[in-house]
Amino acid sequence: MIRRKVNQGINLEEYKDIWVIGEQREGKIHPVTIELIGEAKKLVEGTEKKVVAVVAGYDIDEEVNKLLYYGIDKAYYIKSPLLDVFSTDGYSKTIADLILEKKPEIVLVGATSIGRDIGPRIAAKIGTGLVADCTKLEMDPEDGKLLQTRPAFGGNLMATIVCPINRPQMATVRPGVMEKAVHESNPAGIIEEIAPVLKEDDIAAKVVEIIQSGKKRVNLTDAKIIVSGGRGIKGPEGFELIKALADKMGGEVGSSRACVDSGWIDHMHQVGQTGTTVRPEIYVACGISGAIQHLAGMSESKYIVAINTDPTAPIFRICDYGIVGDLKEVIPAMIDELDKTKE
Ligand code: FAD
Repeated sequence: MIRRKVNQGINLEEYKDIWVIGEQREGKIHPVTIELIGEAKKLVEGTEKKVVAVVAGYDIDEEVNKLLYYGIDKAYYIKSPLLDVFSTDGYSKTIADLILEKKPEIVLVGATSIGRDIGPRIAAKIGTGLVADCTKLEMDPEDGKLLQTRPAFGGNLMATIVCPINRPQMATVRPGVMEKAVHESNPAGIIEEIAPVLKEDDIAAKVVEIIQSGKKRVNLTDAKIIVSGGRGIKGPEGFELIKALADKMGGEVGSSRACVDSGWIDHMHQVGQTGTTVRPEIYVACGISGAIQHLAGMSESKYIVAINTDPTAPIFRICDYGIVGDLKEVIPAMIDELDKTKE
């Protein structure tokens, strides 16, 4: 492993372009890839830099081709039967090798379970830094360095971090934070297949079997409507009311961390800094105070509706519609009104 704490003769000028590490699961591109491409395209605006996606896998030619429709200049498709199933060793080695060879200036990785696994390993292999869980990325107008902003100290302040002397500059970004790239009808980019140097022995862990979780997955990232419950629902049974409103509105059920920590609902429903980042059309916060860590995951929602008995609750400072009242009375009244409009 090469580790560079200081610039050991790196010529920063040699590093070009912005790479997005494309994530695929069972042959399907993860939506965070399209979000990162959208962000990379914003970052290259007004520069000569190119947006390049890198996807490792096997037999996913069609999915890689689909990426071209999001306006990328190039896709590197690292193709090998040994990359058919995700492995930490196989993916991090082959992507790190390609980075060392091609020298991108910036590498963006989704902060998914796979991205969090391989991102830091790739950074360590190539001897650069990585800023995890960025919520904002900008180019410094003075020197063109990447300004990587992320919550720090439990979300109480935002820290902007630069990687001044090593390359590439690497960042992970959580799903749902950045806007997706627009689908275009005439792709101009190209795909370059890469045959990696990879042996079976390079992959320490062998996947014996993949067993799907029995739990019904909740897709908060793409949900247009989310009704979330907080400690104000008073217990796990309170989610029956939350679900009734979510079903009536055609939305998903979200939660604050207080309910997850109390064991009232699974973590996959948690919205916030340590949960999912969401940007639905409508977010209904029921019995949620509006702690900064919760707001970090939902403040980009188009319309926020808050129901809370405490008129001084911080959630009322950011909501579009605030209802001061007991959710046990307000939610049934909302359901009744929705029933009336459907009649
Ligand atoms: P509370 O703050 O206890 O608020 C409950 C609210 O319900 C109150 O405002 C009360 O007035 C109202 N209420 C009570 N009864 C009723 C009723 N009958 N009708 C209507 N309203 C009622 N939190 C997250 O949510 N997501 C995260 O990802 C997250 N990550 C964190 C990461 C770190 C590092 C830390 C330190 C904390 C994190 N937290 C997160 C926790 C966060 O700080 C808060 O503790 C949490 O969001 C509080 O949840 P809550 O609003 O449900 O509960």
